[in-house]
Amino acid sequence: MAYDSNNIFAKIVRGEAPAFKVYEDDHTIAFMDIMPQVEGHVLVIPKEGGETIFDISDDAAAALVKTTKKVAAAVKKVVDAPGVMLAQLNGSAAGQTVFHVHFHIIPRSGGIDLKLHAREKADFEQLKALAAKIAAAIV
Ligand code: AMP
Repeated sequence: MAYDSNNIFAKIVRGEAPAFKVYEDDHTIAFMDIMPQVEGHVLVIPKEGGETIFDISDDAAAALVKTTKKVAAAVKKVVDAPGVMLAQLNGSAAGQTVFHVHFHIIPRSGGIDLKLHAREKADFEQLKALAAKIAAAIV
């Protein structure tokens, strides 16, 4: 399947769609998942377009992992999570629903179940406030 440059994450890269951004550099953007599976669920995308990890350059993949690590440390601190799950789905058979490669940062605490994937929109004021806290915690 050819990359669709009108997917929602490509629009976020071009500034054509809104996002609660927590981090941006020349190669990557991190923003709040608007249908979080848990409080603090953040997505990290490369600016380079590609459907899956197999469709982007090694440089873009390296930048993606570097930003994921940096932002995940801030998420862990802000929501005080003992664990962090990093997930990256390639292809609809793997459950991918937005076809611009991305990492999920999902903080985990024992006993707190994950909500279903991409189902329920969070309160946007709360997402905005949390995004500001995560952005401030990035070093
Ligand atoms: P995946 O199924 O791995 O492709 O994940 C796509 C994720 O994007 C899901 O967790 C959705 O909740 C999330 N999502 C979809 N649209 C948006 C959006 N406009 N802004 C932020 N997150 C989104």
